[in-house]
Amino acid sequence: MTFAEIGLHPALLAALADCGYSQPTSVQKQAIPAALAGNDLLVSSPTGSGKTAAFVLPALNLIASEQRPQSAKAPAHPTNTLRRGRPATRRPCTPAQPRMLVLTPTRELALQVTAASDRYAVRLRQVNAVAILGGMPYAKQMELLARNPEILVATPGRLIDHLNSGKIDFSLLRVLVLDEADRMLDMGFIEDIETIVGATPTTRQTLLFSATLEGTVGELAQRMTRCALRIRVDAVADRHEPIEQRMHFVDDQAHKNRLLDFLLRDAAIGQALVFTATRRDADLLTDRLNLAGLNAAALHGDMHQGARNRTLAAMRRGQ
Ligand code: AMP
Repeated sequence: MTFAEIGLHPALLAALADCGYSQPTSVQKQAIPAALAGNDLLVSSPTGSGKTAAFVLPALNLIASEQRPQSAKAPAHPTNTLRRGRPATRRPCTPAQPRMLVLTPTRELALQVTAASDRYAVRLRQVNAVAILGGMPYAKQMELLARNPEILVATPGRLIDHLNSGKIDFSLLRVLVLDEADRMLDMGFIEDIETIVGATPTTRQTLLFSATLEGTVGELAQRMTRCALRIRVDAVADRHEPIEQRMHFVDDQAHKNRLLDFLLRDAAIGQALVFTATRRDADLLTDRLNLAGLNAAALHGDMHQGARNRTLAAMRRGQ
């Protein structure tokens, strides 16, 4: 099955060709046609399986095929109107009226989803994505919302602030995506999610992505979707080089430290990700590795966004 056979809008097909995607991944083959048919979806699919495109593409297809209705609140500017029928200039007090909302657990994921949406929407006129995140200056966010983006990608907490202050109006919302729903629940966002979902129209389409669909996530999914189709894609071995997995038993902390130093000094390891149980452990271990002469940087939720971005940028540069 190709993207063209799935029946996506020509502007999306062109953008996918620009991205170099020759064919849909397994989750895309299952989720895109089901979402285009208007179904709510519950999808469990691993990171790296192409799940972002699996929810962004059907939503963009819908946005591309429907003109956003003129809101009663949005002032009409007949001589100053963009092609999609939206006023080019808006009063500062006019709330943003997105047609797609993606909720993500972390700022990093929100930024990735925003960048991916912009890549896929690049050939659709006037369709753009905006990220609303904690830690971003408020004035900057007001400016982004004033552009009345079609797509909002947000972490739940900050979105609630804007919702409460009337800066966002979900009455035109068509598609709601809960990305990594299980992680959002682990992070305690349940009440925020309930409030946000309660502010969206019941006629929306809901696409929920989660590593697991059992337990609390299953209950949330039950409440927030209607007759949802379940799609499960297992880890795709063919998209990754075989990964060797090893388990080491250690006697104590000192032994563990020595073993980690030994493993990280392996010349075959250019870069490594080391996961720790707590944020504090991440900082302590980073200090210890740096003292031991290895270039290490921490990444966790207690850090300011600027510091997190610096770690990711240094990782990308191979530093
Ligand atoms: P995701 O699981 O959404 O984080 O995507 C993982 C990676 O796969 C991203 O770098 C995407 O750009 C890429 N990707 C998504 N769909 C396709 C596709 N159909 N063909 C090739 N690469 C893809």
